[in-house]
Amino acid sequence: MNEMPTTRFSQPPYSEAAAAMLDRQPALFIDGRWTAADHDGVLEVEDPSTGQVIARIVDATEEDVDRAVAAARRAFDDGRWSGLPPVQRERGLRRLADLLEANAEEFAELEAIDNGKPVGMARAVDIPGAISQLRYMAGWATRIAGEQIAPANAPDGAFLAYTRREPLGVAGLIVPWNFPLLMAVQKIAPALASGCTLVLKPAEQTSLTALRFADLVAEAGLPDGVFNIVTGRGEVAGNRLVIHPDVDKISFTGSTEVGKIINRAATDTLKRVTLELGGKSPVIVLPDMDPAQVGSAAASAIFFNSGQVCTAGSRVYAHRDIFDRLLDSMAKAAPSWAPRPALDPKARMGPLVSREQHERVCGYIEAGRKAGADVVTGGDNPADAGYYLNPTILAGVTPDMSVVREEIFGPVVVVQRFDDLDAVAAEANATRYGLAASVWTRDVSAMHTLAARLKAGTVWGNLHGNLDPALPFGGYKESGIGRELGRHGVDAYLETKTVMIRL
Ligand code: NAD
Repeated sequence: MNEMPTTRFSQPPYSEAAAAMLDRQPALFIDGRWTAADHDGVLEVEDPSTGQVIARIVDATEEDVDRAVAAARRAFDDGRWSGLPPVQRERGLRRLADLLEANAEEFAELEAIDNGKPVGMARAVDIPGAISQLRYMAGWATRIAGEQIAPANAPDGAFLAYTRREPLGVAGLIVPWNFPLLMAVQKIAPALASGCTLVLKPAEQTSLTALRFADLVAEAGLPDGVFNIVTGRGEVAGNRLVIHPDVDKISFTGSTEVGKIINRAATDTLKRVTLELGGKSPVIVLPDMDPAQVGSAAASAIFFNSGQVCTAGSRVYAHRDIFDRLLDSMAKAAPSWAPRPALDPKARMGPLVSREQHERVCGYIEAGRKAGADVVTGGDNPADAGYYLNPTILAGVTPDMSVVREEIFGPVVVVQRFDDLDAVAAEANATRYGLAASVWTRDVSAMHTLAARLKAGTVWGNLHGNLDPALPFGGYKESGIGRELGRHGVDAYLETKTVMIRL
């Protein structure tokens, strides 16, 4: 086993701005203002770096959700947002981006405190990612367009037929805890660009940056009721959004299990549904690559964000000729990902998000061990408080083991060997998931062959995990329905109307 560096697990003090946010009275943002709930239901918020309770948020009831939906419905129906010249929606989104940029440090710190991710990572990835999505989607507000189509069965000039692209209405946005603000903005930005109004339900573990974002919405001057937030539990607040007859669209990011529940529940009202779900993404390394270099990239592909990434490279397939050297190089890279408290400037990996997630991930490692997997490195919890887990590499696994088949959503990777392209394509596809994959080779033919064969919504070549606001993202198979980002991301909030006029 590789030695992990010794760490002092003490979370540095919070800044004044962050402490002020944590001290706020629990409230919901509905119809342009902060509203206290008319009940005492609250949820406690923990800092996963310490396991301490640091704040409280409203545990919204169905009535709370109904108030938020009513506000969003009014704001949509009277056209105060969808009826604006598109350039004004564009300006609103740009203002939000500028305000987020001006407050980036506070948002990065809050995200680190709430989720446990290293503050340096929130600074480099989460917050700039959200800003760039707002700026990119701002541009779409003025570019939404239908088309004129010649009817097939009519003489030229007899009819004018065209399509209009219209906003769907009220969007219910339900997001997970792994990239709390970024996942929310990935939905907020296209919803607002298209002219929809929205109700956001952040994850119960990580609602702080979404709540703070509501301040920016007010400051940016978006009309009341366009943007609303209800915090609370999925089965209550989330479910109410999904079944509410006045919600036209649900966009959900989260686990495949909950995605299926939501898809079923949304059927009664035939809501439009976008689902971004789990993954078990393969990292395929061909023998022409230098294992020393790819090893550290493969380690990043799994240990980034403590492996709590839907596209995490959780199954590495190394060609037989380089398997040993690749495994060795990954094991050498692992200690640089040894976890530290989120606000420690040296942290590259933080704790897991919660006790529940920690137990879940440790349970998988234990199941792997029992089934005969070799723990090459990690597998242990290095601290007595907080939800830390050392980066873990498993080898000697077989395809039937749960560590190979199921999404672990933690810093745990299985490394397997393969002989040829046919075999690795088949193994990589032998999963109910199909979110992403990466292929590492300089062999152009092998790269494109695998890119075509892999059943995944995104295939990366010689990189892993990069999302770009312009490139569609989503899953094959049980990894989801629909696409976010790019033009496809805006389409998900639009309805198509056909207009046919006899001339
Ligand atoms: P989760 O499914 O437990 O919860 C996600 C959200 O759904 C939370 O806000 C939760 O409150 C809500 N929810 C739970 N039950 C609900 C219900 N019955 N009705 C309505 N809402 C409900 O997921 P999680 O544990 O927060 O996040 C981890 C999962 O998210 C992983 O499986 C990961 O792969 C997935 N994920 C996917 C993507 C992607 O883009 N494909 C991105 C990030 C995370």
